[in-house]
Amino acid sequence: MPLVKLTDMLPGGRWAIPALNVENMEMAQGVVEAAEALRAPVILQTTPGTLKHAPPALFVSMISALARSARVPVGLHLDHGDSLDLVYDALEAGYTSVMFDGSKLSFEENVTATARAVAMAGGVPVEGELGAVGGKEDSHSARAELTDPAQAAEFALRTGAAMLAVAIGTAHGVYAVEPKLDMKRLSAIKAAVSIPLVLHGTSGISAQQVRSCVMRGVRKVNVATELRAAFTQGVRSSLSENENAFDPKIYMGAGRARVRAVAEDWIRVCGAKGKA
Ligand SMILES: [Zn+2]
Repeated sequence: MPLVKLTDMLPGGRWAIPALNVENMEMAQGVVEAAEALRAPVILQTTPGTLKHAPPALFVSMISALARSARVPVGLHLDHGDSLDLVYDALEAGYTSVMFDGSKLSFEENVTATARAVAMAGGVPVEGELGAVGGKEDSHSARAELTDPAQAAEFALRTGAAMLAVAIGTAHGVYAVEPKLDMKRLSAIKAAVSIPLVLHGTSGISAQQVRSCVMRGVRKVNVATELRAAFTQGVRSSLSENENAFDPKIYMGAGRARVRAVAEDWIRVCGAKGKA
């Protein structure tokens, strides 16, 4: 089937759409294979750093082709769009949802810019971020600042965003120790806003913690670092087993297999298995 809009696959019940970051064809294949095997809807997403490596149109062509031959809904999302220009480029290329990340801006500037992204998107769902998920994810780096529930309600109302990324103590990248998440804050945000919530910075968070976030209203779970690490480990171990290897299909295929296994784990953690 063609790429599916995020708002057309958002869960009604207590489970979340896995939104998995991909960098190349093999990672995208691994994720779609996992979704097909577990009959789960899935979002593939790319960061601004990834789109510097290869342009949005290339990902749209490749992931549309994967989606067309898949029996489960597949969407393509811009993760952490850091400028309205990049949001425009992604929409123009055919992304089925976008994030505008105004978390480095003041509250008023973030509201204004996110509302502009929503107007530009003309019905394509936009994810906003309020507060800041700290840590580092390729070009994206920020200090952490937890989301205020009352501000979140005002932000949702004034921007028209379809989803809201919340900062409740998670961080991007690799954790030194497992973080303490502010579950009370998450419940308060959920009570204050009616749009679905998005969890970022999940690599290294226990399955149990992610599940309790889903129980409290998270409907999209983003995973990037763990998939990058899995792909790299697959390639590295394949190359170290055979130092004379020269066929990219062999070692890239090993990366793909690792990505598929990690994607299957996250589909289960999200409760998305069997939901397509
Ligand atoms: Zn993120």
